[in-house]
Amino acid sequence: MARYVFITGGVVSSLGKGLASAALGALLQARGFSVRLRKLDPYLNVDPGTMSPFEHGEVFVTDDGAETDLDLGHYERFTGVHARKTDSVSSGRIYSNVLEKERRGDYLGKTIQVIPHVTNEIKDFLHIGEDEVDFMLCEIGGTVGDIEGLPFFEAIRQFIHERPRGECLLMHLTLLPYLAASGELKTKPTQHSVKELQSIGLAPDVLLLRSEHPIPDKEREKIALFCNVRKSAVIAAPDLKTIYDAPLAYHREGLDQAILDAFGISPAPRPNLARWEDVMDRLVNAEGEVRVAIVGKYTQLEDAYKSIAEALTHGGMANRTRVRAEWIDAEIFEREDPAPYLEGFHAILVPGGFGERGTEGKIKAAEFARTRGVPYLGICLGMQMAVIESARDLAGIPDAGSEEFDHEFGKKRFTPVVYHLKEWIQGNHVVARKVSDDKGGTMRLGAYTATLTPGSRVAQIYGATTIEERHRHRYEVDTKYRDKLEKCGLIFSGMSPDGRLPEIVEIPDHPWFIGVQFHPELKSKPFAPHPLFADFIRAAVEVSRLV
Ligand code: GLN
Repeated sequence: MARYVFITGGVVSSLGKGLASAALGALLQARGFSVRLRKLDPYLNVDPGTMSPFEHGEVFVTDDGAETDLDLGHYERFTGVHARKTDSVSSGRIYSNVLEKERRGDYLGKTIQVIPHVTNEIKDFLHIGEDEVDFMLCEIGGTVGDIEGLPFFEAIRQFIHERPRGECLLMHLTLLPYLAASGELKTKPTQHSVKELQSIGLAPDVLLLRSEHPIPDKEREKIALFCNVRKSAVIAAPDLKTIYDAPLAYHREGLDQAILDAFGISPAPRPNLARWEDVMDRLVNAEGEVRVAIVGKYTQLEDAYKSIAEALTHGGMANRTRVRAEWIDAEIFEREDPAPYLEGFHAILVPGGFGERGTEGKIKAAEFARTRGVPYLGICLGMQMAVIESARDLAGIPDAGSEEFDHEFGKKRFTPVVYHLKEWIQGNHVVARKVSDDKGGTMRLGAYTATLTPGSRVAQIYGATTIEERHRHRYEVDTKYRDKLEKCGLIFSGMSPDGRLPEIVEIPDHPWFIGVQFHPELKSKPFAPHPLFADFIRAAVEVSRLV
């Protein structure tokens, strides 16, 4: 049976609990243990699929088609363990399950209450897969004391109480603010936050403390004494120049040792940190720099494209070069010539997105890349816009567009080169959708296979002709226009196995122009950069050498 580590946060939000959980997962792996990471989110949305990226950052999609919190992206990037549907749950999902059971009559006429019905539902979730790994790491979203979080904390209290002693522990992440006037790190907010936990029956075994300065011994002792944890379990989480330093930095501070000690695992297996040493070597000792323009819509919030930013960094690591990604609002190109903005970039990326706003600007960016020979990577909507650009400018379909935008405005304005997909094949069954279906979870979601044309650039890049990538979209390029577009030089080099859905387009007669209907960024890891991103950056490095 797995040992459980619950990761909670206090004092302020955005302390990097997801990252700390992911780094701990990586460290336990380095000690030879298998891990699985989970996120429990207190918000009432059933899943983050319908939340704006401005609200919640990127929606991370799993192989099995769940739309989840972006922290699952951190988990995968640090551990390489592919997340599953059962690794993410929200209060909304829990309540929705409970209410569904109530309507079905599963509770046999009982009064439905937070305790025990909601807490039981949470505990059932926690038990899933408990025999599969050595350590289950469960992060609770929000901060202790939030009203919505209470049922989760109560469920954890019960869960720990019901398991044999020594099988669960709680790691609490807080902040030690620095008062410049007195030159001190203040421990009081941490003490209060631990009190808050204690008031609901929980006690931390390990404290991970974010602080801008090293924690003096005196403060460590004070925290240990007042918060009732061992001094050796008071761990500093210093600010880092790069998130990928977290495993090595937290190891130096003694985090993994403290966790193993708290479980009484002795002697602790020695860690093998070679993977992270190599990752850091590639980051720190990179030579040169390439500039990549990301022309998108949600540019004010970097978290909206979290995985893309990380995958670009990984692409740089594969080439031992630094990548400077700059975000440009696509709408600017609807008013102004893109040339002055885009000249000087070594590559252009148009990411995924929803809705018509900004799309004419993205089409301009694709045109600039195509006509100027600048490496172009179009992801999902970015592929659709590249196809529309070629259809308009090369294939003689001046009103080419996507049905998505006609649906949005309720009138027909475009020739639908990109159309609404109503039926497709998943594994060995047919999935059907209507335009009027609910917005939540009704897309083509999760991992699908694509067949690549032997000899195409993408087949060379992947070194394979069958690949599997994650999807999240409703609209699809229409194969009706394939011949026309291929005659103009835009080749459909990746298709669904049944040949009906275009997965990849490329322009062989261009230094590097590829559009993909899926999200390769979701599978890139610092220790295994995604081949498309690695090659995209390689092409950018080549451009940078020419200028
Ligand atoms: N809006 C487009 C679609 O639904 C693209 C989605 C995306 O970029 N993830 O097909």
